[in-house]
Amino acid sequence: MKISVTDIPHDGLSLHFEEETDSVNDLFKKDGRDVNIIAPVDFTLLLKQEADAVYVKGSIKTRLSLLCSLCAKRFNYGFQCDMEYVLSKKARMPVQEDLELETDELEIGFLKDETIDTQDILSEQLYLELPIKPLCSGGCRGLCSKCGADLNIDECACNRDDIVDPRFAKLKELKL
Ligand SMILES: [Zn+2]
Ligand SMILES: [Zn+2]
Repeated sequence: MKISVTDIPHDGLSLHFEEETDSVNDLFKKDGRDVNIIAPVDFTLLLKQEADAVYVKGSIKTRLSLLCSLCAKRFNYGFQCDMEYVLSKKARMPVQEDLELETDELEIGFLKDETIDTQDILSEQLYLELPIKPLCSGGCRGLCSKCGADLNIDECACNRDDIVDPRFAKLKELKL
């Protein structure tokens, strides 16, 4: 959904809606990341006009399908995040510190074409919050580095003792 800044009333705009999206999936695909949104995205947004910016506060909820970075299994992931930031209407940050906004500690982005695009909000939050190497579970054992067996399902017969993590190789030297 695109929201024109001029449509935000003086006392702010409060929105709650669900949105289907494909474009964000395409964005991740182009980026070589296996992230798929598999449910409508639930947005709760509060938008407020400031002097030279739009204040954005809200939350996003949806479900994703991700690929485990260890065992390559596809798994579902409930995504939820809260956000609070400011979109500046100025193309550049002012050099002098004359921001009358009480937003010193908030993230500042920039507003394109006087429009707020919920797809941009969504993709930005996903890039910020999602792990680069997702795991299907905290205890995922991954695949055997020799035969490729999924060690979460079954222990294979390989002897993996001779595969030494380089971080531990140094420790072994110290003991000798
Ligand atoms: Zn896994
Ligand atoms: Zn194996």
